[in-house]
Amino acid sequence: MTLPSARILLVSTSSGGMASLVGSLTSGPSRFEVTRATSAKEAGDLLAEQQFDAVVFEAPDTAIALDGVRLFHRFHSSVPLVVILAESTPEVEIELKREGARDVLTSMCLTCDSDSVLRRVLGHLIENRRLVRELERARQLGLHLAHHDTLTGLPNRQLFRTRLREALARARRHPRPLAVFFIDLDRFKKINDTLGHNIGDLLLIEVGRRIRTCLRETDLVARRGGDEFTVILDGVANGQAAARAAGKILEALAEPLVLDGNTLRVGASIGISLAPADGHDVEALVRCADIAMYRAKARGGGFEFFLPEMGQRTIKWIDLENDLRRAIDRSEFVLHYQPILNVERGNLSCLEALVRWQHPERGLIFPDEFIGLAEESGLITALGEQVLLMACKQNKEWQNAGLPIVPVAVNFSAKQFQVGRPVDLVRSVLDETGLSPDFLDIELTESAVMADPSFATETLRRMRDLGLRIAIDDFGTGHSSLAYLKRFPITKLKIDKAFVGAVMRDPKDAAITRAIISMAHNLQLKAVAEGVETREQLEFLRHPGCDEVQGYLLARPQAPQHIENLLRGESPLTAAPVLN
Ligand code: C2E
Ligand code: CA
Ligand code: CA
Repeated sequence: MTLPSARILLVSTSSGGMASLVGSLTSGPSRFEVTRATSAKEAGDLLAEQQFDAVVFEAPDTAIALDGVRLFHRFHSSVPLVVILAESTPEVEIELKREGARDVLTSMCLTCDSDSVLRRVLGHLIENRRLVRELERARQLGLHLAHHDTLTGLPNRQLFRTRLREALARARRHPRPLAVFFIDLDRFKKINDTLGHNIGDLLLIEVGRRIRTCLRETDLVARRGGDEFTVILDGVANGQAAARAAGKILEALAEPLVLDGNTLRVGASIGISLAPADGHDVEALVRCADIAMYRAKARGGGFEFFLPEMGQRTIKWIDLENDLRRAIDRSEFVLHYQPILNVERGNLSCLEALVRWQHPERGLIFPDEFIGLAEESGLITALGEQVLLMACKQNKEWQNAGLPIVPVAVNFSAKQFQVGRPVDLVRSVLDETGLSPDFLDIELTESAVMADPSFATETLRRMRDLGLRIAIDDFGTGHSSLAYLKRFPITKLKIDKAFVGAVMRDPKDAAITRAIISMAHNLQLKAVAEGVETREQLEFLRHPGCDEVQGYLLARPQAPQHIENLLRGESPLTAAPVLN
C-alpha cells in the first residue's frame, strides 16, 4: 500500500538512533515526511503547531518511555504513537499500551528485520486513523442529512418534531407559552410550473433565509416539505408577540424577489397554534396550526390563530381543494343577490351577485371560506366564468319575463382580473346570453387594480369599451394613487363596510367616509356605501350626498326566487319606509 507522504514526528534524544530511524522511514516504497524533535519540549511545541499522522518516540529507558507516553496521551490522544525501546518485556509493552501507546517495538527487531517493520506498523496505524476519521465524517454528515433539508439546509420535519418535543418537555417543567407556525406559500406551484424547478428551488432557499432573519436565534425554522415551513417560537411572551412575528414574516416574504432576472412575488398563509392552550403534544400543535393555515389561505392569505371551532372541520378543510374542484364540475354554486338602493329616489338601482356554494353535506358555504383558495389553486377562473354566466343569464331571464329591469353587479377577484382574460370572458358571456352590457356592472377591489395600475388602466378601458360599468370595491382599504384613480374609466366607488360600520363610533372613520364621498363626486363618480346596518348610519351617509346604499338594514343577500318576488312587487323591501 502506498500512502501519500504521511507526516511523522520523530522524537529521539540519541543522535545515532535518530539517523538510522530517519533513514529507514524515508527510504523504501512508502514515503514518510519526517520531522525531528530532540526533546519532549520540542516535540510538544511541534505537536501544538502542526498536524502529524503519527509519532515515533525512541525512549532511552522504560521510565522515560512511560512518562513520555502519559504526557503525550493527555494532550494528543488521537495521534497514533509508536514507542521504540532498546529492549522490552511483555509486561512493559502492556503497561505502555495501557497508557496510550499504539505499538511498542524494540531497536533489536528493527535492525534484525530490516527497516520494514516500522514502516509497516506506521502504515497500518495511519490508514486506520484515516478510516476512523472518514467514518466519523460520514456519520456526522449522515446525521446532518437525516435531520436537515438538503435544499435549504434548514432542519427537516424529524428534527422539528424532536425540538418541539424537547421544548414542550421544558415548558412542562418551567411553564411558559410556546407558539407553532405553519407557513404555506401562496402561488408557489404556479411559479414552479411556469418558471421551472430551478427557480422554484432558489425561491424556497430565499424564503427559508427570509423567515430565519425575522426570528430570534432561539427560534427554530424547519422545512416540512414542498412549500411548507414550520416554526417554533419558544417562550413567546403572548399571542400578540406571536402575531407580531407572523406579521414580520409576511412582510419579509411580500418583498419582491429577483431570481435569475425574474421579479417574483410570493405571499404566504400562516396558521398559529399556542401551547398549552391548543395542545400539549407535537401532533396536536402541528394539526391546529395546519388547520389555522388553511383558514388563512381560504381568506386569501395573512395569518390566523387556531380556534376550537375550526377543529371541528379539520378533515373537510384539508379536502377543500379537491371538493372545490368537484363542485365546479358539478356546478354546485348558486348566486344570491343583494339589492343596492338609490338614496334619493329610494328605488333599486342594482343587484349585487354574491356567490354561495351549495355543498351536498355542509350546506351553504359563504365566499370568504373558499374564494382565497380558489384564487390560490387557479380554480377561480372556472368559478368566475360560472358566476358571470349565471348572473347574466338570470338577468336576461328576468327581463324576458317582463320584470322591471335592474342591472346586475358581478365581483371579479384580483387574480381573475389579472390573469383570467377578463375582457374576452365578458365579451363571450354577453354574446352567449344576449344580455346588453348596459345591465352589467363589474366590481373590482381597490387592491386588484392598484397592483398593476398600467395594466388595469388598459384592461378597464377595454371593458368600458364593451359598454359596461366598473365599480371599485372595498374602497379605502388599499393604497390608491389619486393620479391613477382619475385615469381609470370607472363609475363608482364602494366605500368599504369597515368604515361604514364605524361612522357612528369613530370620528376618524366618519371623516374618511365623508372624504371618500366628496372625492368621488369631485371625480364625477358615484359613491356607494356598503354594510349599512342602522338608521343612524344611513342618516349619516345621506348628509354628504352618498348616492347609493347597500346593507342588512335595507336588504340581505337573497336567493333568486325572493328577488323575483321583490321585482314583481310581491314582497316590499324593508328599505322603502326607511328611505322615504
Ligand atoms: P363584497 O364584494 O364586499 O360583498 C359584500 C359582502 O358584505 C357580502 O358578503 C355581503 O353579504 C356582506 N354584507 C352585505 N350587507 C352587509 C351588512 O350590512 N353588514 C355586514 N356585516 N355585511 C354585509 P359575502 O356574500 O359573504 O361575500 C364576501 C366577499 O366574497 C365579497 O365581498 C366578495 O369580495 C367575495 N365574493 C362574493 N361573491 C363573489 C364572486 O362571485 N366572485 C368573487 N370573485 N368574489 C366574490
Ligand atoms: Ca362587491
Ligand atoms: Ca365590498
